[in-house]
Amino acid sequence: MDRSCAQCGARIPPQQGSARPRKFCVTCRPSRNRGNPRVIPMSESSEKPKSTGSGVADSYRRRLDSAGVLDTPEGSHVMLLASLLEDGMGSHTAAGAASLSRELRAAMESALRDVPGEPDVVDELEERRRQKAAGA
Ligand SMILES: [Zn+2]
Repeated sequence: MDRSCAQCGARIPPQQGSARPRKFCVTCRPSRNRGNPRVIPMSESSEKPKSTGSGVADSYRRRLDSAGVLDTPEGSHVMLLASLLEDGMGSHTAAGAASLSRELRAAMESALRDVPGEPDVVDELEERRRQKAAGA
């Protein structure tokens, strides 16, 4: 009796031994005890978690928007990385996600660096204090 894969329709070879008959071919459902132990399970999982819209990209967009740099090249770069990270949730390798996160943080810092008004307030106060001290 021939079985065919419930997912791709490929013919499934006759079962050997007393194992339960397969519903899926080896390609669609790799044998669990034959997997490479070094492969991170989440990267080969066929049951990918549905994208719940984790809000990563959204939170970056809000932050960039409130800083007024959403339309800058740096802001666009941040959004690109943020959506890559969000789209790949659950399918990135751990190393891939980590390096993407680093890129994203660096891009965010660079995008916010030139925000007028915000970051230099402290320096400016210090500068005035120095000038006052020098003049006195
Ligand atoms: Zn199949």
